[in-house]
Amino acid sequence: MALRTALVGIGKIARDQHIPAIEASADFELAATASRNAQVDGIPAFRNLAALLDNMPDIACVSLCTPPAARYPDARLAIEAGCHVMLEKPPGKTLAEVRDLASLAERASVTLFASWHSREAAAVRTTRDWLKGKRIRDVRIDWREDVRFWHPGQDWIWQANGFGVLDPGINALSILTAIHPSDLVVSEASLSIPENRDTPVSARMSLRDPEGLEVSVEFDWLEKGPPKWDIRILVDEQEALLCEGGAQLLVDGVEAMSGPDREYQALYERLAGLIESGSSDVDLSPMRIVSDAMAVAHRQVAPPFEW
Ligand code: NAP
Repeated sequence: MALRTALVGIGKIARDQHIPAIEASADFELAATASRNAQVDGIPAFRNLAALLDNMPDIACVSLCTPPAARYPDARLAIEAGCHVMLEKPPGKTLAEVRDLASLAERASVTLFASWHSREAAAVRTTRDWLKGKRIRDVRIDWREDVRFWHPGQDWIWQANGFGVLDPGINALSILTAIHPSDLVVSEASLSIPENRDTPVSARMSLRDPEGLEVSVEFDWLEKGPPKWDIRILVDEQEALLCEGGAQLLVDGVEAMSGPDREYQALYERLAGLIESGSSDVDLSPMRIVSDAMAVAHRQVAPPFEW
């Protein structure tokens, strides 16, 4: 039987992805929403999660689609009510918050899933498999998009704890840590922060793995036109380009893998599997890189940003 599921934070990603993915799933049923200003036609709606859980004690699963800064108290509430919980990315505003949620979920014997949707892009697993046994010589991440197009009017993203350009950039790091799991160290970083905002509009970092592999990273939010979401990997005598945010892999310019976007369907399938097996998945490695970058970064003042 489908698990009665509540969605919290009915905004862009809830409407674009979570609602269609839940509708298409046999494992989950959208039973209620909690959002201060929005609701979904025909679905019981509450202004906050506490009211929802008080009124609907049969909810078994809560999926949190609010911005990261708002997520921790709701996640605690849901776990304490005995619900399985899925977190949007980045899973919280600090590492300690998410670690606390993981311990709480373990004690409550419920599933906690810190989701990374980009890891489900069509060519990511193929790239990981293709890299097995090869010596990576160099990695360059280039993640550029137009913030006005992709995050229209979202002021939270410019506020402290909103991550700025590191919010989309962490998608690239979630792919990197999936295709090349290792203890990447941030050796250098710089952040450009508009003088009227708290979070960066562009970022650069250099990462190094224990074998000495260098990874250079550039995130930019002022790209005009189509986004560029590329990871270029030099391996022995070949070059792999994982592009389209992980949806397409080219090897020496020739397509090796591509596929349709079913990232969120895959996330809900993964959640169902975790619940079935009584386990959790809380991989904080992409967020640790972002946290470390924020700790070591040089700051530059950028021109003011207005929508
Ligand atoms: P959004 O539309 O701006 O926010 C989602 C909803 O959360 C808002 O509509 C708002 O609904 C509620 N909310 C609760 N507390 C809030 C607060 N303190 N500030 C602002 N809104 C608050 O954001 P989104 O684009 O859906 O992103 C949400 C999360 O999904 C982020 O972590 C983001 O990284 C991730 N994500 C986004 C995208 C994308 O394309 N946008 C893609 C993948 C993942 P009420 O006002 O009704 O409460």
